[in-house]
Order: sequence, then structure tokens, then C-alpha cells
Amino acid sequence: MPVLVTSRSGGVSDPPFEGLNLGDHVGDADEAVAVNRRRLVDRLRMPVQYMRQVHGRQVAVLRRHGPPPQADALVTDVPGLVLAVMVADCAPVLFEAPAVVGVAHAGRVGMASGVIHATLGALERLGAARDELRVTIGPCICAGCYEVPEDLRCEVDTQVPGSAATTRVGTAAIDLRAGIRRQLAAAGVTDITISARCTAEDPELYSYRREGRTGRFAGLAWLGPTP
Ligand SMILES: [Zn+2]
Repeated sequence: MPVLVTSRSGGVSDPPFEGLNLGDHVGDADEAVAVNRRRLVDRLRMPVQYMRQVHGRQVAVLRRHGPPPQADALVTDVPGLVLAVMVADCAPVLFEAPAVVGVAHAGRVGMASGVIHATLGALERLGAARDELRVTIGPCICAGCYEVPEDLRCEVDTQVPGSAATTRVGTAAIDLRAGIRRQLAAAGVTDITISARCTAEDPELYSYRREGRTGRFAGLAWLGPTP
């Protein structure tokens, strides 16, 4: 049940999308995104399933490759179908069990609206027990960089206890990793891996906060062999 996180490496997009931009909704040239997406399929030798993400908590259960559903999480129990979540500061959360996988798009809004809980429910309905789940919180903006207004920090911490934080310069911040980890742990997930890479600090990754107009990298999960 492999998982993978892409970066700018290996793509053809021009600045400000420079590299392997997989987002087709960010203003990049359609031809460049098509080449980038084709390269990812060639590398994995499996179809890659995207979704139209809206910062919600809708989960799409997929059994075959098709047009991107409007959703913020995908789950499947079918081998050979690569699930993709596109991000540039939001957290890509990747779920693996022996016979089920999933991906979720968890930024501030998605995390607070319950996308993690909704994804866990969908995985469970496909037969994945909580104690056999392995979850990876991929690269996202770190607490030290994710400055927000004080009232917003307070509001989000009410919805997601443990997410309130402080930036490196001492201002109000949100800690996506801590908030998501708390949600997972509260649901009984114990095998949690958290990437230390911060999108806002790592030039190999796309960051909306750092760059504004930019591309999207992807977190991927699938059942089956690693090509
Ligand atoms: Zn950071």
C-alpha cells in the first residue's frame, strides 16, 4: 500500500508554476499540466484519480478511474488506482490499510469541517479497522509559518482542540499537523507519521502562502505494487 508525495521535480511548467504542477485550476497552461500529469502516470504505470477540491468534507468512494468528483477525500478498495490530493500549504493526509487506501485534503477549513473524521468513516465502511490504519500527514505549512488573526486561531481551536499555536515571530498561528494528529488519535488511530517538510519554507514544494500564484503538488496513495 504505497504512498508518495510529488514535488516540483520532473515537470515542464514555466514560472510561477515551474516544475511538476499538477493543478489544472491555477492558471497554468493546459498543455503543460497535461504533460506533467502524463509523466506521473508513466512513472507509476497506473491511472491517477484527481478530485475537484472545495475545502469540504465530502468523500468519494471509487471503484474505477473516471472524471474528478467534487470531493475533498477519495477512498478505494480496488488495486491499481492511484488516488491524488493536490495541495500547496494544506495538508495531504494519506491513509493505508491492507486492503483499503484513501487520501484527504485537510487545510484549516477542511480540518475544522471534519474531513478527517468523514474519511475514517468511509475507510471503515470498506473494511479498514482503525488499529490497522497507517496514516501519513504529508508536507504542509508549519505552525511557525502559518500566521492567522487571533480571533481565527481561537475559533479554529474551539472546533479542533490543540490546533492553536504561535508563529516563529510570536504571533497567532494554526498548527495543522497538531490538529489533525489530535483528530486521528481521538478516533483511535495510533500509527501516524508526520512529515517535517514545510511548504512555505521548502522551495521544492508549492506554497500558496509564500508565492500566491503557484502550482500544486500531490499526495498519492494506492493499493498494489510500487512500480
Ligand atoms: Zn514553516
